[in-house]
Amino acid sequence: MRVTVLVGGVGGARFLQGVRSLVSESDSITAVVNVGDDVWMHGLRICPDLDTCMYTLGDGIDTERGWGRIAETWHTKEELAAYNAVPDWFGLGDRDIATHLIRTQMLRTGYPLSAVTDALCNRWQPGVQLLPASDDRCETHVVVTDPESDDPDQQRAIHFQEWWVRYRAQVPTHSFVNVGADQAKPAPGVLDAIENADVVLLAPSNPVVSVGAILAVPGIRGALRTTAAKVIGLSPVIGGKPLRGMADECLDVIGVETSAEAIGRYYGARSDTGILDGWLIHSTDEADVPGVEVRSIPLLMSDPATTAQMVRTALELAGVSL
Ligand code: GDP
Ligand code: CA
Repeated sequence: MRVTVLVGGVGGARFLQGVRSLVSESDSITAVVNVGDDVWMHGLRICPDLDTCMYTLGDGIDTERGWGRIAETWHTKEELAAYNAVPDWFGLGDRDIATHLIRTQMLRTGYPLSAVTDALCNRWQPGVQLLPASDDRCETHVVVTDPESDDPDQQRAIHFQEWWVRYRAQVPTHSFVNVGADQAKPAPGVLDAIENADVVLLAPSNPVVSVGAILAVPGIRGALRTTAAKVIGLSPVIGGKPLRGMADECLDVIGVETSAEAIGRYYGARSDTGILDGWLIHSTDEADVPGVEVRSIPLLMSDPATTAQMVRTALELAGVSL
């Protein structure tokens, strides 16, 4: 059996643990991972969502923080601060930097990000094929009222990381831009993984800056619409609130209410112009999404067993059996 999952970082990685616990080794799991958060910092190429998936599935994650390496130290960050180096608001751990050094070196030599990711995964053995949504630059930038200007009409586009980490999404925000999306192509294997899957799952990841940024890569939405597999999504919002992170701030920007129903409708039915056949929402939520089969079950990924049950229900809804 072939399971393909569209994922972001923390929510996506936890969900993949559940998928991996259910799907046996002879079956294959492909994760199409968001690259919209990717960024250059201090000369290093950083891919937060790919790394979160890789470290989580490879048991190298700091489980409390949810991102970055366990037993991390921060000497490099302190040294950079002593030089007054900017940006100074991004958490770059010493262990983590080794990953970025190797990635940057390989990219500079001419390897595509998908090949680099594969090489890094040789160490981490995630048990899931991690594919960047694209090898091309397709970054999420955010149009905000310039926080450094006195003119309230002055707008500026900043990288998603600056908006998220530096400003905690707490600046007047106007829109998201997927920089490079017009030129970007899906990474090798991405369309095949969607087209030839037995089931496609949308992890309970951020619908705007994780799943939405994957859908911004031309060709991916089309593949979801035409695949013979059923496409089942899971809501990242429970009781009108995201579980961690600031999905509500992102949804506000695109004018979608923070509710399981509104996100389901935003993805839309494949029988209409959307991408969903099924939509899983939390037990206490209700949602009517025209053309989409909605089912409610506990959606808190508090432990691997609950997460596995979410995956089992998604597979059931898709009509595939293990
Ligand atoms: P990020 O890239 O690290 O922000 O991670 P993702 O985009 O993959 O996941 C973030 C989303 O996961 C947030 O919108 C959360 O609401 C959602 N999330 C986190 N934990 C849970 C959970 O236990 N259950 C559900 N349903 N959603 C969750
Ligand atoms: Ca992310």
